[in-house]
Amino acid sequence: MNETVIITGASRGIGRGIATAFAKNKCNLILICRNSVDKLNDLAMTLSEEYGIKASCIACDVSNPDDIRKYSNEFAKADILINNAGFSYVGLLQDMTDDDWKKVIDTNLSSCFYMSRAVLPSMIQRASGRIINISSVWGNVGASTEVAYSASKGGVNSFTRALAKEVAPSGIQVNAVAFGYIDTEMNSMLSDEEKSDLFDTIPVGRPGTPEEAGEFVCKICFSPSYLTGQVITFDGAWI
Ligand code: NDP
Repeated sequence: MNETVIITGASRGIGRGIATAFAKNKCNLILICRNSVDKLNDLAMTLSEEYGIKASCIACDVSNPDDIRKYSNEFAKADILINNAGFSYVGLLQDMTDDDWKKVIDTNLSSCFYMSRAVLPSMIQRASGRIINISSVWGNVGASTEVAYSASKGGVNSFTRALAKEVAPSGIQVNAVAFGYIDTEMNSMLSDEEKSDLFDTIPVGRPGTPEEAGEFVCKICFSPSYLTGQVITFDGAWI
């Protein structure tokens, strides 16, 4: 296929799983993270050697539109954009500072706007393209002590549905995947006991893995073009 895929937040966790799944499908990769550049470079090297694809790395803060503008020529090459970078804040809403709130909304929601704006003109010109936004079950139903996170992911869901309507006439698919519990560093604040209690509430009886999350995103991405404007939940029948 040799399509070019941008994946934000690819240095670890779900983003790393998504990068691996697209590499297996012979896609070329533009991998983005903000801080963990060494890890990102190692991943790019491993995937290009293992699967014979091209993989480049960009250190960019996707919550900062000026940072994204610096790479507009590079981003214009994308056939596929996966908006995966995310940040979670756990705590009471009343204790959140303005900066805490802004960081969650900018990292999880505004980044989808900034990155989509960067790739859309060339996708529209080619009358083809696919965007997948990574959401959460908390965006569907809300979570106590994760109000900002839930609001950001609920925003991602509405952003997805609205943008899909706007760009479907230009041949572009936009969908979101709402994950349940996936075993990544994002959940490292939970103790082993808390994790075990939580897994008991998931009917499948275990967390999802970054590898299966990545495979699923890749499958959704290559679905028939009539699948657009959807928020698809992947949570082991949890919520
Ligand atoms: P991790 O915390 O393991 O990884 C987050 C990734 O995002 C890292 O690569 C990090 O790179 C990158 N990142 C964070 N902020 C920025 C930024 N401002 N600019 C660029 N890159 C950034 O998270 P997960 O893999 O668990 O989560 C990935 C996505 O899946 C997120 O959107 C999350 O909300 C969503 N999700 C996760 C669930 C889970 O249970 N794990 C459940 C539901 C949804 P760096 O360290 O270099 O900043």
